[in-house]
Amino acid sequence: MIALTIRPGEAGSTSTEQVADPRPDTGEVLLRTLRVGVCGTDREIHEGLFGEAPDGSERLVLGHEMLGRVERDGHGFERGDLVAATVRRSCGHCDACAAGAPDACMTGDYRERGIKRLHGFAAELVAEAPEHLVRIPPELGKLAVLAEPASICARGIRHARAIGDRQPWKPVRALVLGTGAIGMLSTYLLRLDGFEVWTVGRTPAGNPKAELAEACGARYVSTSETPTADVAADVGGFDVVVEATGDAQVMTDTLGLLGRGGVACLLGIDGRPRQVTLDGTVIGVDAILENRALFGSVNANRVDWLAAVGQLEGARQRWPEALAAFVGLEVPPDRFEDAFGFGGVKATLAFSE
Ligand code: BGC
Repeated sequence: MIALTIRPGEAGSTSTEQVADPRPDTGEVLLRTLRVGVCGTDREIHEGLFGEAPDGSERLVLGHEMLGRVERDGHGFERGDLVAATVRRSCGHCDACAAGAPDACMTGDYRERGIKRLHGFAAELVAEAPEHLVRIPPELGKLAVLAEPASICARGIRHARAIGDRQPWKPVRALVLGTGAIGMLSTYLLRLDGFEVWTVGRTPAGNPKAELAEACGARYVSTSETPTADVAADVGGFDVVVEATGDAQVMTDTLGLLGRGGVACLLGIDGRPRQVTLDGTVIGVDAILENRALFGSVNANRVDWLAAVGQLEGARQRWPEALAAFVGLEVPPDRFEDAFGFGGVKATLAFSE
């Protein structure tokens, strides 16, 4: 079968190649991969900056955003069922993983499909244990390829609420920084939750991403026209900020965009070694006198996957055309370069129909 693989750490070593079909053991479900989404993490792996092959293997099969179809009846599934698969697997020796929360792994020894020490899903066939599969409602169809990034957003928002809930609060205004898949999906999930949402991008208003944000009732703000700090000052500070730009300076600035009791959640990654700056009074005075909080969130718990799939279906029912427009590029696996270079919300690799 065809798989998209890379020699981790070696930029330019990504290629499609023939690999052996998986041989599922009796405890596993065989899946035919339909779509694999591509994200910033895949781009980093492609550039040789991230990723680890499984023990004993030189190459890593890429892909952690998967939609598949069950090939044979069994394990409570029927042939033809649509499923997604979670990404992270237990480290086997910490309390969080033992409690079914590898997203909160305490050792860092977890493995992740398509990222760290486990082959991913960018292959025509995949074998996976049933407990790592998430059922997809048939109506959601191919858009369920968005389930993985949506699960990341669902976790961030769930944790923001948990942190905010440590004291009385009534969050109503949310700010989303970034218009990639994570920013846009966060916008939609927050709108479904009833938040008033401002979504910030660099491109001047009137662009397709601005229209996509506005289609769900969010307000689009371009930093080329309005500084984000002005928007925050206008509304009196945000209750929730979701950062998804992957810029450490923007992440730092979120602390200054919060209102009283506000919570900022960092979902992007910025590995560039550099100093970032912050007005000392923002952290030294405002953060304290206004009970503000800033936290980072990675990966997703099964509860977030279930929530994300339900919310994606809710979004599809409410804004069908807009949700469909999230997937702006669909190419065969050998056109992976086009997918990695895509500037829209989400590019996917089509392995099967
Ligand atoms: C994935 C997460 C993963 C993280 C770190 C992200 O792109 O969506 O599931 O935990 O990368 O490897």
